[in-house]
Amino acid sequence: MSLPERLPPRGRESKTARAGRSAEIRRRLAARYPDVSTALTHGSAWELLVATILSAQSTDETVNKVTPGLLARYPTPADMAAADPAELERAIVPTGFFRNKARSLQGAARHLVSHHGGEVPDSMEALVQLPGVGRKTANVVLGSFFGRNDGVVVDTHVGRLSRRLGLTRNHDPEKVEVDLMGLVPAEEWTIFSHRLIWFGREVCSAKDPRCDACELAELCPSAFRVGRWAKPARATARRPARTTRRPERPGGGA
Ligand code: SF4
Repeated sequence: MSLPERLPPRGRESKTARAGRSAEIRRRLAARYPDVSTALTHGSAWELLVATILSAQSTDETVNKVTPGLLARYPTPADMAAADPAELERAIVPTGFFRNKARSLQGAARHLVSHHGGEVPDSMEALVQLPGVGRKTANVVLGSFFGRNDGVVVDTHVGRLSRRLGLTRNHDPEKVEVDLMGLVPAEEWTIFSHRLIWFGREVCSAKDPRCDACELAELCPSAFRVGRWAKPARATARRPARTTRRPERPGGGA
């Protein structure tokens, strides 16, 4: 098990210093990933919404294998709204949590049909009203399809990287998002999250961060301290069992 990620001690890094450090992190990530977007295959807002809902607790690769057949069978929200639930579940089994995801997909499709004429809305307020859609999914659709920077996508990679890099101390995705929105200019919110996601996959994975080959190492308070670099927890030294010696009675004797 890895040691907890070590951030600069509270109060040691000023807001100005953190802003400067995050600017340099952004600059280096932009140099590595000048143009990057979601790895979820899609051709419309509806397709991206479906793929993003399916991507929870799954990999983009798995989702990209499932969506072509799924969207050929249910090309519009109206088609999915009318789907046989068992058939819909079977179609998405490889992505995991298929019962919940099928409920979310069909609930979202029905909501789109009844409230938005079968179209995916382009506002955060409307998107988060869809069953199974939170800020993360809404941010993906708004940023990667509509080109709107309404927030930062905080998935597992973005959360982990943000904590390792000392950009947040929070674990709640919505609090992480608020912290990142305070450090990153609004026009970079979408692309910054994609850069972190790609960097999390390619360099700073959960278990095997490549700190020895990382261009952010000198800016990272967790460098060589997490994943495989973490020292094993110090074993508690075993002391020999203490023998309790009964005080001798005055005068001796057992
Ligand atoms: S130095 Fe290590 S922990 Fe920090 S971002 Fe790079 S790979 Fe991740």
